[in-house]
Amino acid sequence: MSIYGFSPETIAARVGTEVDSAYSSLGVPIYMTNNFVFEDAAQGAARCRSPEYGDLYTRISNPTNNELGKAIAALEGGEAGLAFSTGMAAISTLLLTLLKAGDHVLCDDTTYSATAWLLRELLPKFGVESAFLDFTNLDAVRAAMKPNTRLMIFETPCNPTMKIIDIAAISAIARERGAVTMADSTFATPFLTRPIEHGADIVMHSSTKYICGHGDAMGGLLVGPKSLMEPIHGDGLKNLGGTASPFNSFLMLRGLKTLALRMERHCASAMAVARYLDAHPKVARVYYPGLPSHPQHETAKRQMKAFGGLLTFELKGGLEAGVALMNSLKLCALAVSLGEANTLASHPASMTHWYVPKEAREASGITDGLVRFSTGLENIEEIIADLEQGLAGV
Ligand SMILES: *Cc1c(COP(=O)(O)O)cnc(C)c1O
Repeated sequence: MSIYGFSPETIAARVGTEVDSAYSSLGVPIYMTNNFVFEDAAQGAARCRSPEYGDLYTRISNPTNNELGKAIAALEGGEAGLAFSTGMAAISTLLLTLLKAGDHVLCDDTTYSATAWLLRELLPKFGVESAFLDFTNLDAVRAAMKPNTRLMIFETPCNPTMKIIDIAAISAIARERGAVTMADSTFATPFLTRPIEHGADIVMHSSTKYICGHGDAMGGLLVGPKSLMEPIHGDGLKNLGGTASPFNSFLMLRGLKTLALRMERHCASAMAVARYLDAHPKVARVYYPGLPSHPQHETAKRQMKAFGGLLTFELKGGLEAGVALMNSLKLCALAVSLGEANTLASHPASMTHWYVPKEAREASGITDGLVRFSTGLENIEEIIADLEQGLAGV
């Protein structure tokens, strides 16, 4: 029975349960093998011509990885999905496959640092130029489009201000001008936003985060139309080699089964934390798309089912207050990344963004007192109690 067409919760609960013809196991087997044996010369010849005739070599195709690709495609409502070793392997493979010298890329100005590096540092070496601007300013986006703009990239929500990009509006501009859109939907997951329904061409996930959900495996995913995914698979992934480990794909499939439930808890708890911090005298500002004070709260209500597990907030006491809070938290772990069972807190000014000059840092919203908070699955009263005692130490 095909899982396509069911609700996302049902698809997620059933992913990877149709695969094993050898032993009829209900769970997806982990095919930790590099090679697949041919029955005869004709079968070998066919498989060497196309993966549609069967698996050949795991870098190109592997049953466990393929199940994950199918699962994420079903969840996002796209034609084809592919699994990669990390989120950055997914993005770099997409860029290096779809772009050629002379092409132009438009990217929202609030983007993951490694994505920005690929566009700013790597692609110009190959004759591809990029421009960064605020995608919430639709007139500026229209004005920045060039005849050779081939790709438009954005994240929603994005770090650190949890800015929300209007996927339908950006996708409409792209379509009108013949450009392809890639939405990095890592923070949203298919349970909060399904970008393809809003007009995006390709959805990307760092499955390292919520999809894995347990902080124990890295991965990346792309979903899109066959016309784009076939070259990304058959040319890009095959030859660049950023293939997922089948073991990690098994962990991602396992993560997908509980993603709907986990997202409900992450979102409900983040909302409670946001309200608590918003009323705290030592907090200057809370960035959370679920608060009516958030600049894109209306867009978020339109395209998100709930507002995510991640938030940032600014302490009135600046750098010193940020460091003091880090040293006072007991339950919340001090760590980067997001989307895990543990609540994770970090202080970008003294940690991840230490090397960025203060002015450039502040221009991108990362002020001295900014704290990043990935709300975990612990009891919400205990998370807030830890913040309460932590803030008392500031
Ligand atoms: C983590 C992350 C990435 C990169 O993913 P990796 O799995 O670490 O390579 C890309 N985009 C966003 C929004 C992320 O949070």
